Amino acid sequence: MEIPSNIFYRIPVGHHVSMKIRKGQATLYRPYTPIMSNSNDKNQMDLMIKIYEDGICTPSIEKNLKIGDFVEISDPIGDKKFEEWIKNSEELVLLAAGSGITPMIDILTMRLDFGKNNGNKTSLLIFNKTENDVATDEKTIENGWKLAELARDQNMIKNIIGQRISTEILKEYIDKKDVSRKAFICGPDGFIITAKESLEELGLSSDDVHIFQR
Ligand SMILES: Cc1cc2nc3c(=O)[nH]c(=O)nc-3n(C[C@H](O)[C@H](O)[C@H](O)COP(=O)(O)OP(=O)(O)OC[C@H]3O[C@@H](n4cnc5c(N)ncnc54)[C@H](O)[C@@H]3O)c2cc1C
Repeated sequence: MEIPSNIFYRIPVGHHVSMKIRKGQATLYRPYTPIMSNSNDKNQMDLMIKIYEDGICTPSIEKNLKIGDFVEISDPIGDKKFEEWIKNSEELVLLAAGSGITPMIDILTMRLDFGKNNGNKTSLLIFNKTENDVATDEKTIENGWKLAELARDQNMIKNIIGQRISTEILKEYIDKKDVSRKAFICGPDGFIITAKESLEELGLSSDDVHIFQR
């Protein structure tokens, strides 16, 4: 998306925007998380939107939105600053399901910018129902999405296909009990509930976990 040139529009990591979507006579709103653009153009904003064929809003975006159309978005939404968590936590856990991947992209990018080899551990676990749902394939790499570039570093990113999140699965990746740990969760409600409970079982308190929610 192109932002009007006279507008300064900075979206802090972990914040999102609300987008106005027309569906027939109705006007609806959905939250989306801008991802850092690969382009140097400060007037460009990238959104990565998963289309749900049975969804209420996204089929309208796919069908109705054409190149050159105008889109209304809100000011950035979000009340917390996460730089400290992203920069300093010794273990950072990112749990995403489906389109919940989007806020994790900039978090991971920022984490890498702060220091790739500083000994801190980072795990991005992406849960999807099928292989086709995964947004990190070769085609995506060609398209230049940052996540795809980062996905090459398989030590940090793990695609988990066809399994529901559980303490057992998380145990394989979260092991450092004696370090400062922080976690972010984004996904459907059921995923969020189980992810939070599992993290608690593994010793993370609710103060150490941020949930991206509508
Ligand atoms: C903070 C935040 C940031 C987000 N950022 C992004 C982003 O950057 N990119 C992105 O693609 N999405 C993002 N989302 C999700 C996005 O806001 C929409 O929810 C998404 O686009 C789906 O909208 P929809 O109206 O098309 O689908 P919906 O009508 O909400 O349905 C989505 C899917 O859920 C199923 N479903 C709906 N209700 C139920 C139910 N009760 N039980 C079981 N299944 C159900 C539907 O069948 C469908 O498959 C974000 C959400 C939040 C909270």
